[in-house]
This record gives sequence, C-alpha cells and structure tokens, in this order.
Amino acid sequence: MKKIYGIIGDPVAHSLSPVMHNAAFEELGMDAVYLAFRVPKGELKDAIQGAKSLGIAGLNVTIPLKEKALSFVDAEEVAEKIGAINTIDFSSGTPVGYNTDGIGSLRVLKETVGQINGKKALILGAGGAARAISFYLDVEGAMVTIANRTKERAAQLASRLHNADFIGLEGELERRIKASDILINATSVGMHPNEDATLVNADLMHPDLVVFDIVYNPMETKLLKEAKKAGVKKIVDGVKMLVYQGAASFKIWTKMEPPIEAMEKAVRDALIRDRLHSRIFYIL
Ligand code: NAP
Repeated sequence: MKKIYGIIGDPVAHSLSPVMHNAAFEELGMDAVYLAFRVPKGELKDAIQGAKSLGIAGLNVTIPLKEKALSFVDAEEVAEKIGAINTIDFSSGTPVGYNTDGIGSLRVLKETVGQINGKKALILGAGGAARAISFYLDVEGAMVTIANRTKERAAQLASRLHNADFIGLEGELERRIKASDILINATSVGMHPNEDATLVNADLMHPDLVVFDIVYNPMETKLLKEAKKAGVKKIVDGVKMLVYQGAASFKIWTKMEPPIEAMEKAVRDALIRDRLHSRIFYIL
C-alpha cells in the first residue's frame, strides 16, 4: 500500500518539503507520497492523533507548531532540550518527535569548516532555528555567541548552553564578528520580500570568516552578497540546511539513505522556477 508522509503547519501551502520528499521517493522508486496539511494551532493534538489512526507514516512540523507539538509526542532527549520538534515518526505505534534542524545545520558546518571543536561561532538570532543550531554547536565544543535584537532572549538562550555568551545587535557586534570563525544568520532578516536587509555588512567581515545564512529565499541573500564583497572564501546558503534537515527526517522514517542530490536539485529548481513566476515559498 502507498505510504503517506506530510508536513503540518499554518500556513503551509507554499512549503518546499513536498517537492523535496516526492523527488526522493521518485528517485528511489518508492510507492509513497508527501502532502502538505494546513493545521491550525488549536487542532494540533487531533491532527497528530488522527495521523496516527489513519496510518500516516511520518510528518514534518513547521511554523507555528514546532514548540506546541512537543506536548503530543514522546520526544527524543535532544528535542526536549531544544524545546521544539520538526519531525514525527509513527513507526513504533506511538508518535515519536525529533528535531532535525540542528542536525541539518551541523552537517552543513562540518562539511564547510571541518572540526567544530574550539571554533568561535556568532549566531544572529535567538528564535527556534537559533536554538536548534546553537545546541548542536555547543555539544560539538564551539564557543558560541548569541547576538539578538531582543537581548533578554539572547541571554536566556546562552544560559542554556555550556560555553556561550550573548550580546545585542549594537556596539560589540563589530568586534565580536572580527574575532569569530563562523557567522550564522538564524534570523528572518533578508528573507523575501525584504531582500535588501542584512544585519551585517561587508566592512565587519574578514576573508577567513565562514558565512552561513539559513534563509534560503532568496538563495543569495544580501548577507551573502556582502560576504562576497568582503572576499569571504566560504559562503553557504540556506538550501543545504533545508535539504539536510529533510534528509535526516527521511532517514528516521524510512531507515533508507536519502538521495541528497535529487532532493537538493528539486529544491533549487523549485526556488528558481517560483522566482521566475514571482510566486514565493515561505516555509520549509
Ligand atoms: P523565529 O523563531 O520567529 O525567530 C526569528 C528571529 O529573527 C528572532 O531572533 C528575531 O529577533 C529575529 N528577527 C526577526 N526580525 C528581525 C529584525 N528585523 N531585526 C533583527 N532581528 C530580527 O524564527 P525561526 O523559526 O528561528 O526562523 C528564522 C529564519 O530561519 C526564517 O527565515 C526561517 O525561514 C529560516 N529557517 C531556515 C531553515 C533551513 O533549513 N534553511 C530552517 C529553519 C528556519 P527577536 O527575538 O528580537 O524577535
């Protein structure tokens, strides 16, 4: 029987996950389909229970349901610590929750930087994505600085990590970036339609800085353009993280090796196609 997977969120109609996972199923010749389901926050518990009863094999969870969904699953320890899930697996009969955002970002950074231990990473943002990314970097032994517009949120996040401090977005930011090995934008700044926005300009960067923007629409954000201007050698866009978090979910559900190249191509093609037709994807 055809297996059904999907993503729940609100809004969810423009999610890239169906394109990405359906490309993976096709590549591997699997009899499976991945669909988007709009689920209002108040319906979340029923949606998860309903999915289990209907025999849905696996779900992704996106904005604004990632935190609340924790209450309705048996979550793995890491997801509990992060405080959010983006993946539910139903194969054991009970819904089990995982967070693959951090796994995706760590894979991107390991490919780009190599060893993370001892590296100084400055993360812009203290929201859900910043939480997942900072948790994994902290476990790997990076020295993490959280820089956030709302300084109290930065302080709160830094206090949950082993080797981290925090700053606001003014004053100290310049000095800290100059002393960093890795700069990650985990805010929504620069995302369509505000494509001319960036929290950091070229004059604050140095060529040996790794610059990673998790925003993937547009693929080349203003931050990444500024990094090019500054002569930065290692620049990474948000598509890789999107694909790697999806690949980690795919592996949890199917226990199979995800066809990464086909998934990435499907996402990049969809983003280009959509920009050509002036339609816009907002979410994972
Ligand atoms: P979130 O929980 O809503 O957090 C948003 C963060 O952005 C907060 O730190 C917020 O600061 C900051 N922010 C928003 N507008 C700002 C502005 N004008 N100036 C300065 N800071 C601003 O969102 P999230 O789930 O972490 O997602 C953040 C971004 O990452 C989104 O664009 C999302 O699409 C993207 N994302 C990408 C991937 C991927 O796989 N590539 C995965 C997850 C998320 P305050 O605390 O001060 O409000």
